[in-house]
Amino acid sequence: MISITEALDLIDQHAAKSPAQQVAALEAVGCLLAEDVASDIDSPPYDKAMMDGYAVVAADLASDSAELDVIEVITAGNVPTKKVAASQAAQIMTGAPIPAGADAVVMIEQTQMIGEARVRIEAPNITAGKNIMPKASSLARGATVLSAGKRLRPLEVGILAEVGRDHVSVVPQPRVAILSTGDELVEVGEMPGPGRIRNSNGPMLAAQIAAAEGTPINLGIARDVRQELTEKIARGLEADILVLSGGVSAGLLDLVPSVLAEHQVVQIFHKVQLKPGKPIWFGKRVVSGKTTLVFGLPGNPVSSMVCFELFVRRAIGLLAGRTENELRSAEVELAEPFFHRGDRPTLFPARWVNAAQRTAAPLAWKGSADLAAMAAADLLLQFPAGDAEYLAGDRIAGLVL
Ligand code: AMP
Ligand code: MG
Repeated sequence: MISITEALDLIDQHAAKSPAQQVAALEAVGCLLAEDVASDIDSPPYDKAMMDGYAVVAADLASDSAELDVIEVITAGNVPTKKVAASQAAQIMTGAPIPAGADAVVMIEQTQMIGEARVRIEAPNITAGKNIMPKASSLARGATVLSAGKRLRPLEVGILAEVGRDHVSVVPQPRVAILSTGDELVEVGEMPGPGRIRNSNGPMLAAQIAAAEGTPINLGIARDVRQELTEKIARGLEADILVLSGGVSAGLLDLVPSVLAEHQVVQIFHKVQLKPGKPIWFGKRVVSGKTTLVFGLPGNPVSSMVCFELFVRRAIGLLAGRTENELRSAEVELAEPFFHRGDRPTLFPARWVNAAQRTAAPLAWKGSADLAAMAAADLLLQFPAGDAEYLAGDRIAGLVL
């Protein structure tokens, strides 16, 4: 059986960055840009007023005050029609183009209308350029505004809009299909009958996929019946990643690996030295140039959750082209003694005793079917294989949830 590190290395080898795709700017948030984006305009497109006030000739205000003739009013969206000469001013609104002849804007608060078309100004330090944003000072036409590789945030959607782009080439969000397998499963809205339980993994995995910036595609529940698994797996293989829950252990009806094999999915590993999550299955299908990665997660909800965080999240990040470590690992200090039993490296739920000082205590936990106890968990402690007594103050690796 391979180790967690070996499993992660295999995922790294097989999960390649997806080809670039043109998407709507709004859908590009979180994605890496796959092209250099150049501006198709100067911004601002003209020398622009940055204040509501009066466009003036700065030299008229050398003595800090003046009375000027107001020759026109320029509102945003309109263009000046007259040239401003000495002793003249044009009333101007923020965003409007500066008229020829003027070289400064005095803010309205420093002015007073005297009569129909005359203004009195009291304003110190008015020099050429005051309250004017020069043409192309933010963006020059043809200049690169965003470079390939940039991770797009809402702010970049604004910049794209400014340069006329409502679509952009990005490394797309991976589409991740989820199939929950098991004869015992009923939908969330149903009350489970005898021998039945609700499908909690499906919604949890969908939420984990969304949190990992993938696009979840929920394929619902498949019974442990070859025909049904075959049909639903075929649909799931159209996605970039197919995540199955259940059916990969040693039970009589654990049919997933053999049905996957019939669909040309090649196994890369099955079983990892890990608790919970040992039965995890990973494979890949390449058919006419289209690659799908397939994860078979053990059905126990905590196993499923942990395997997703350790392995699937990593694959989603790699397909999306992100190189940052997807795991939020931390070294923590045990707040109390703990005896760990187990022949496999274990991820054990724990809570922060003091998050700032990174001290944590293991929770009372009944194992991989005990999802409810995980609600109190802030992190998972990574205990190495083997029975060992840990003391308060011992340092141990953790994975922050
Ligand atoms: P399996 O991996 O199919 O052997 O399932 C292991 C355990 O997880 C069994 O107790 C299942 O009932 C449970 N289980 C499987 N799938 C789910 C699911 N989608 N939601 C909640 N529990 C599940
Ligand atoms: Mg099952």
